[in-house]
Amino acid sequence: MLYQRSSQLFAEAEQVIPGGVNSPVRAFKAVGGTPIFAKEAKGAYIYDEDGNKFIDYINSWGPMILGHAYEPVVNAVIERAKKGTSFGMPTALETEIAKLAVSMVPNIDKIRFVNSGTEACMSAIRLARGYTKRDKIIKFAGCYHGHSDSFLIQAGSGAVTFGAPNSPGVTQGTAKDTLLAVYNDIQNVTELFTANQGEIAAIIIEPVAGNMGCIPPSAGFLEGLRNLCDANGSLLIFDEVMTGFRLAKGGAQELFDIKADIVCFGKVIGGGLPVGAFAARNEIMNYLAPLGPVYQAGTLSGNPLAMAAGLEVLKAIDGDAELFKRLEDKTAYLEKGIREKLDAENIVYTINRTGSMISVHFDAAPVTDFKSAAKGDNETFKKFFHGLLEKGVYIAPSAYETWFITDALTYGDLDDTITAIGKVADTL
Ligand SMILES: *Cc1c(COP(=O)(O)O)cnc(C)c1O
Repeated sequence: MLYQRSSQLFAEAEQVIPGGVNSPVRAFKAVGGTPIFAKEAKGAYIYDEDGNKFIDYINSWGPMILGHAYEPVVNAVIERAKKGTSFGMPTALETEIAKLAVSMVPNIDKIRFVNSGTEACMSAIRLARGYTKRDKIIKFAGCYHGHSDSFLIQAGSGAVTFGAPNSPGVTQGTAKDTLLAVYNDIQNVTELFTANQGEIAAIIIEPVAGNMGCIPPSAGFLEGLRNLCDANGSLLIFDEVMTGFRLAKGGAQELFDIKADIVCFGKVIGGGLPVGAFAARNEIMNYLAPLGPVYQAGTLSGNPLAMAAGLEVLKAIDGDAELFKRLEDKTAYLEKGIREKLDAENIVYTINRTGSMISVHFDAAPVTDFKSAAKGDNETFKKFFHGLLEKGVYIAPSAYETWFITDALTYGDLDDTITAIGKVADTL
């Protein structure tokens, strides 16, 4: 394949955009080479500026669960745009999507829309802190909750201590209120509660981690967190920006039958437009401005184009009883195919999967937390990534990312992908 036009565009972009991209992972730093520039996409396929066609397993990092340029979304956005693109006033559309979301997701009474997953998670912890009148939060190493200061934290010194900034610009003052825990390690979380009695406002977690590859919660782990929160008067925040409306209509809460106190959304809920949201039951949500004292706002929040897009996707999900079964079946089929091809070449790997989220790790040991995810052989991953790209299969340009399966994928596409994986496996 040729990437000539993409190379030119990247060189041009680098002159005026830091690193040539508006979000770092797009720059291919982890895999090397030049990022391909998207020109258009339809269904399961994405086409680049050089005219190459790829089967897309990124799907805009999750939102395109029904495929690219999904017709009802495209039409709804066009029709809304003709009537004005932003008002800074409430619209009936906002109530319509809010009602639908509240009806689909268990255990929430009200939802507030924002413009990104980052904003949703940032606002959720402010709300949790305001509501509990406590400062500290627990997050898990390797979980991503957007790029707000409180989450850009790495392990400090010693196991039971506060975190340290993992980006310049994040202050020590902020870092000291974020406690870092090990995913799937309930003992570790218990120790943090013991060492910080009465100080923890909330635990925030990706109920299925999707930002260190896909890591499912081990049996009893989420229940354990629920119990710890209940015993300590802390809130449990499910960051369902990735899992919401993807693992089930009601997300991970429904799939695992665990109640979260606050739930964050993004990605699918916006149908490919910039949207995030956070939701909870009344007693918590009523703590938000203008009803309550916790401030949160947004000039473009509830934007009509974004709400129109999100509404079409939620309606489609709500009205399709077979969707999650189809997604599950397709992803299981892909998993089986990948296993056969990698086994045939005696490649050492681990595959993790929950529903339509799947990741391939080039390490034999189980991948259950950030440390085990980091052990994967990155050189093999790079070859795997570039090999697949050459064969017209676009997976995320980082070993720490999940693949997202879309309903637009046919079994023919999956077979083509598995064939490509077989050919690439032969070269690893
Ligand atoms: C993508 C993601 C975010 C951040 O959302 P943005 O819209 O990129 O700000 C937060 N949490 C999780 C779990 C995510 O996957």
